[in-house]
Amino acid sequence: MENKLNNIINKSRYITKEGEVATYIPSLGKANSTDLGICIADMEGNIYKSGNYNKKFTIQSISKTISLMLALMDNGKEVVFDKVGMEPTGDAFNSIIKLETIMPSRPLNPMINAGAIVVSSLLKGKDKDEKFSRLLNFMRKISGNDKLDIDEDVYLSEKSTGDRNRAMAYFMKDVGIIEGDIEDILEVYFKQCSIKVDCIDLAKIGLFLANKGIIPGTGEQIVSEHITRIVKTFMVTCGMYNGSGEFAIRVGIPAKSGVGGGIMAAVPHRMGIGTYGPSLDDKGNSIGGYKLLYELSRELNLSIF
Ligand code: GLU
Repeated sequence: MENKLNNIINKSRYITKEGEVATYIPSLGKANSTDLGICIADMEGNIYKSGNYNKKFTIQSISKTISLMLALMDNGKEVVFDKVGMEPTGDAFNSIIKLETIMPSRPLNPMINAGAIVVSSLLKGKDKDEKFSRLLNFMRKISGNDKLDIDEDVYLSEKSTGDRNRAMAYFMKDVGIIEGDIEDILEVYFKQCSIKVDCIDLAKIGLFLANKGIIPGTGEQIVSEHITRIVKTFMVTCGMYNGSGEFAIRVGIPAKSGVGGGIMAAVPHRMGIGTYGPSLDDKGNSIGGYKLLYELSRELNLSIF
């Protein structure tokens, strides 16, 4: 398998030159645009890896799948989906436009920034620190990596420049979708996006979803099968931003990308896959990671459709 992965990396690396690293969060601009790595964690406990699989990067939007699981466990479906919808948008991840025009006024889904900020606002905890540490501990548990922590530099960079997210959050407070202190809620959201991971961590989180919320090996059910199904469905319909439809047709694997360059994918009953390549396409998806998943899906027949 690792030979296969090496071949796929070698034949895909050229494409990283066709994209660009994100710079709207200034600290992300420091990434090396030609990095490309992959890891597969399968149900039998095997880990296969290749390329820059152990480079650390920030999880960014991929964290939205994890906060959604915790918010659903904390509050139940009714409360969460009263405040955030289930439909793809066709707009960019940070788009603000539909917040005012869609009725009832609420973000269309939890994978866009506005929806994810609502989800973060619903996490239980006595204050922002407890909310974030519950989320971090949950992420450590499902990735099997108790060393996960934030990249302080990216966190501060995002906090000082995240005015579009701030604008959305204040708007949503005004229309009654969000309650509480907005700066506290954004602190939890910015921190969750700034958690440092590598391809192995993402592959293990993908495997956890592929395995219906059970930690493989221990048999421990951490999240209900139903919640993992909801999350995987959002990954199919909204996980690759406004490129999700094309990705479903070309690759056919539930996946979530982040502007830090990661993609976390879950092939039900089979494997989790983590990819890294900080060079992004015009939708904000890792251009190299997309290609790796495309090649792998063809070679191993991974499409769920
Ligand atoms: N922290 C990023 C933001 O809110 C996440 C975006 C992403 O990865 O799509 O802009």
